Amino acid sequence: MERTFSIVKPDGVQKNIIGEVVSRYEKAGYRVAGIKMAHLTKAQAEGFYAVHAKRPFFGELVNFMISGPLVLLLIEGEGAIKGVRELMGATDPKDADEGTIRKDFADSIESNIVHGSDAPETAAFEIAYFFNALEQF
Ligand code: UDP
Ligand code: MG
Repeated sequence: MERTFSIVKPDGVQKNIIGEVVSRYEKAGYRVAGIKMAHLTKAQAEGFYAVHAKRPFFGELVNFMISGPLVLLLIEGEGAIKGVRELMGATDPKDADEGTIRKDFADSIESNIVHGSDAPETAAFEIAYFFNALEQF
């Protein structure tokens, strides 16, 4: 059984589609093993996206991620890392497949509704970054 980390980003919370995102994961057979809301500090967002620190969009990305509350999700299931990424769709909604979360709801490559871990190593880091042992079920 594999675990991955996902976020309903501030634009998803603003659009009132927290339940829609969670429902898509659940309907695909994944289980919510942890869930909470947070409003990240700049330092927390910078630490989470540290791999992107040198990218030109880093400052905008951090500002977007701290622009409002978001929902932190621990998702479990067979092949959850790849499966959640498939449900999310491509980073740029213009490139996202029909029926994916980003195709259906995202406004742009910057405001793209969801985050999902991209590999076992990043999933382990991201889960531990936001969920302590008592918050994982
Ligand atoms: N992003 C952006 N501009 C870009 C590429 C990415 O604003 O040109 C943002 C976008 O919110 C994306 C996040 O940075 O979701 C992380 O980028 P990554 O390449 O890891 O995409 P993801 O894994 O989220 O699909
Ligand atoms: Mg990524």
